[in-house]
Amino acid sequence: MNDGTGNRPHSDFPNLQSSNDILIVEDSAALSALLRQRLERETAGRTFCCASLEQARTLLAGQKFTLALTGLNLPDAPNGEILALLAEYAVPTIVFTATSEADATIRYSERKIIDYIVKSDNTTVDTVVRTVNRILTNSAFSVLVVDDARWARSGLVEIMQRQNFRVLEALSGKEALDMLADNPSIELVITDYNMPDMNGHELTRRIRATRPSDELRIIGVSSSSDRGLSASFLKAGASDFIYRPFVPEELQCRIDNNVETLTQLKRLRYLAERDHLTGLANRRFFFEKNPPLEPAPANDAVAILDIDHFKSVNDTYGHEAGDQVLKRLASTLREMTVDKRYLAARLGGEEFAIYMKDTNAFQAHSFCEQVRSRVQATSIPLQDKDISVTISIGVMEMEERETFGNQLNAADQLLYMAKMNGRNRVYSSLTIPEALIPQPHEPHNSVTRRPGTR
Ligand code: GH3
Ligand code: MG
Ligand code: MG
Repeated sequence: MNDGTGNRPHSDFPNLQSSNDILIVEDSAALSALLRQRLERETAGRTFCCASLEQARTLLAGQKFTLALTGLNLPDAPNGEILALLAEYAVPTIVFTATSEADATIRYSERKIIDYIVKSDNTTVDTVVRTVNRILTNSAFSVLVVDDARWARSGLVEIMQRQNFRVLEALSGKEALDMLADNPSIELVITDYNMPDMNGHELTRRIRATRPSDELRIIGVSSSSDRGLSASFLKAGASDFIYRPFVPEELQCRIDNNVETLTQLKRLRYLAERDHLTGLANRRFFFEKNPPLEPAPANDAVAILDIDHFKSVNDTYGHEAGDQVLKRLASTLREMTVDKRYLAARLGGEEFAIYMKDTNAFQAHSFCEQVRSRVQATSIPLQDKDISVTISIGVMEMEERETFGNQLNAADQLLYMAKMNGRNRVYSSLTIPEALIPQPHEPHNSVTRRPGTR
């Protein structure tokens, strides 16, 4: 889970291969120890350190590394010989160098290393950590390279693979569209302009018909001398454009910028959809997924949950304790709704909802009964004692052609009845005599409240 601060704990690195072994080749013991400490703490990588070419050779022979971090001048290899060794073992390499930037740039293009970092001030280690994190998280990112010319495609594919991206290839616009339809996880398309079946503009326009730029980035590429091409690519919906031949660093920076933009947009979207206290889906997200004015599918069900006498928790133990109770209830709901069919949300205050897809009345009722009893059995540690709370639940299975808002209202009425009849209980069509089941009424804009509630 995100902790809301932008810092991610180790377990949150998406989709990483099981081993993320990083080789550090550095003869300064102090720097090596610092790098090791920071990388172990702030990335998903496991570090292995050595101080010479010979030691590196031994380590490389014994295991596979996801990535290497190396200085250029080692006691037994003063002229960057380590790069040839790392290339021999095909280990993507980040160079950590004290030499001038220009010098490093030349080596960068020659040796095809993934990045270089010039040792300068005390932000250098931060840069290393950021770069390593970028390379490791790239493995969760799928890129589609579209070009009819094999040489052009394979050059790009090689660059992207070296950056640890998952790379797919398409030889034509049509193939690209098919692959995008089959692989919704693709988040970046790099496309050539000149292709026989459809040009890059047309492909970009067609992709944009279904995939907006906050979901998928498109970078246009061409070796044409027509300087107007970049503007027309951008107008067609591309996020960026690069002329061939590439300056390798420019290409990398543009790709990184696009990946970073997308990551930030994803994070903003994630935050906009979450309740800030509990991390559950918020009211807005819940109603975006289930529009109140639209009919809900007949095989689904919905429940409204409300904590019993929550006001007295606040009154007795304080507002902080009340927040603890809300968070604990949210964790229980999260644990119990990992099944993709379920969506748990905090609608506001101490009121929560669970949407249940493909769940009939009986299943919905018995699931809610499990939730109720689990909540009752959960002890919540407060500062000086443990407490527990109970919840009341109203459950409705969807009826054909009825709007979701009305169904939710009906669930709310059942919840009200559960409160009236003693609380800590689940009310649904299974527990209430037919005549008493709340009937959904006229469609309206929002969910109405039962009397006496917010
Ligand atoms: P009932 O069993 O009928 O539901 O009684 P109740 O006390 O739970 O219901 P009531 O609606 O009277 O009180 C709800 C309380 O929830 C009042 C409000 O201060 C508190 N509350 C709402 N949001 C939060 C929150 O984010 N944190 C805390 N600590 N309290 C909250
Ligand atoms: Mg309550
Ligand atoms: Mg209430």
